[in-house]
Amino acid sequence: MELIDGNLIAAAIIAELKAEVAALPGRKPCIALVRVGDDPASVSYVKKKEKTAAEIGIAGRIHLPPVTITQAELFALIDQLNADPGVDGILVQSPLPKHIDEVAVFRRVSDKKDVDGFNTLNLGKVAQEDETGFVACTPAGIMALLARSGIDLKGKHVVVIGRSLIVGKPVALLALQKKAGANGTVTICHSGTSNLPAITRQADVLIAAIGRAEFVTADMVKPGAVVIDVGINRVPDATKKTGYRLTGDVEFTGVSAIAGKITPVPGGVGPMTVAMLMSNTVKAFRQNRSA
Ligand code: NAD
Repeated sequence: MELIDGNLIAAAIIAELKAEVAALPGRKPCIALVRVGDDPASVSYVKKKEKTAAEIGIAGRIHLPPVTITQAELFALIDQLNADPGVDGILVQSPLPKHIDEVAVFRRVSDKKDVDGFNTLNLGKVAQEDETGFVACTPAGIMALLARSGIDLKGKHVVVIGRSLIVGKPVALLALQKKAGANGTVTICHSGTSNLPAITRQADVLIAAIGRAEFVTADMVKPGAVVIDVGINRVPDATKKTGYRLTGDVEFTGVSAIAGKITPVPGGVGPMTVAMLMSNTVKAFRQNRSA
């Protein structure tokens, strides 16, 4: 079994972006990070994004509206950021409070600054294989992990578990694209799928984006398969200072014993998501400048 080290691959991408940004003349790229409320996971994700942006030389503008913000007020903030020529990318950290329509917020972000890749136009561009769009960061990160680990999907059966708009659907579309590194034969499984293990056992590349701790067990995996674990689950653990431990959607000990290659949690897909957000921000800067 070979470990796919997301920390290492993300660090290489960040170093490349740092060199690219250092060579840019004039104003540096800028990302606006909007975090509504104090959800602990969101606090740590936004902190990590802010720190990585600073490391690359991307300016970070942090907006921390209270959890009581109305949808209209959040739209007004997004409109202001959309209109600001000094802001290249906008990230609204999810999850948002229940009284806010998250998809409507994603749609409100200008498609030209949608570095999260969640708005309608950018999701459509993934389907159309239009490279001018922004690909959602986690799916883009998974594809970069595979490419930089020398895994070509052509001729492979790729099974994705999960059909969310932020991971499952876009990663399936990317694996399906008719371009180098992709060209996979893709099956998408979800909560309505019958006999899931019989399908996952056919996977040459298995991508788990379910949100259930250690759901994928060794009996569901073909020996030698590549296993990409997207899940980030907090499992109560009294032995930890935080009171919980992080685990993926894959039961790592059992599956790693038979997989050909596997991503760990933490240290697999997670760091790639942040690296791709930064890559999208530099792309937005370049595209908006040349427009
Ligand atoms: P989601 O809840 O939106 O979607 C989960 C999907 O799993 C659904 O489409 C559902 O159909 C499927 N599912 C649920 N139960 C199932 C079952 N019993 N059998 C088959 N399919 C089932 O979640 P999401 O936003 O796609 O996130 C998935 C996981 O990935 C979560 O743990 C999340 O924290 C993690 N995540 C990680 C990153 C990262 O950067 N590494 C980014 C986004 C999400």
